[in-house]
Amino acid sequence: MQITEHILTGNDCYKAGRTITPKGIMVHSTGVAQPRVEVFLDAWNKPDVSTCVHAFVHQGGVVETLPWNWRGWHAGPPPKGGVSANNTHIAFEILEPAGHTYQGGSMVGYDAEKNAGYFAAVYRNAVELCAYLCRRYNLDPMEDILDHHEGYLRGIATNHADVAHWFPRHGKSMDTLRADVKAELEGGETVTQEQFDALLAAHRQEVEGRPAETWAQMAWEKSVAAGLFDGTKPQAPLTREQAALVLERLGLLEKP
Ligand SMILES: [Zn+2]
Repeated sequence: MQITEHILTGNDCYKAGRTITPKGIMVHSTGVAQPRVEVFLDAWNKPDVSTCVHAFVHQGGVVETLPWNWRGWHAGPPPKGGVSANNTHIAFEILEPAGHTYQGGSMVGYDAEKNAGYFAAVYRNAVELCAYLCRRYNLDPMEDILDHHEGYLRGIATNHADVAHWFPRHGKSMDTLRADVKAELEGGETVTQEQFDALLAAHRQEVEGRPAETWAQMAWEKSVAAGLFDGTKPQAPLTREQAALVLERLGLLEKP
């Protein structure tokens, strides 16, 4: 996933300049059949636009449009007077493909088969962006990612349907997104304890298999001949009990 930066400095939301401590991620879709990100970058980069998000997710990648810790305008005032997710959540809009219209909040004429490739690309980019933000702000993918619709149900956003009105057309949901972000985080750059232990064990085995270094070779051979060591693993670390055994074999532990 490629993130490019195009901060909407002409948007009143950017100019307001308020910042937040990100506590979660809110996923939106634009609600209009327009896959070209440049259209939004132009339309939103001016005064008197009542909305602004931190990023657009499009087919080719991600465009960051507000600093991640800016306060965005995406969740509106919750209907029951709760605290808006604007104060807590990083938000991005996923661009929808061309070809459909809307009637009463539902997609009309949406061709899921034709849009399968498009959807797979934006979904993948959304997963990777969420994983990036979870890492960066130490967020829990299972708890801290929700869509606009879930935000409404939790009383922190206006009553919108996105993205629950769209994802199921492709067999996806916010649950699959959260699980995919979790998998991305677990399979990503971080090494698990098990993988780390295995790497360490392999390294030790490799070191122990090496022959004695030239500078130590004569002494090593003499030690083996004298019965102090059994001749294997010349570069293995020596434990305290092995040292004690060597000292005893040298006769250095006899009482005076
Ligand atoms: Zn929304």
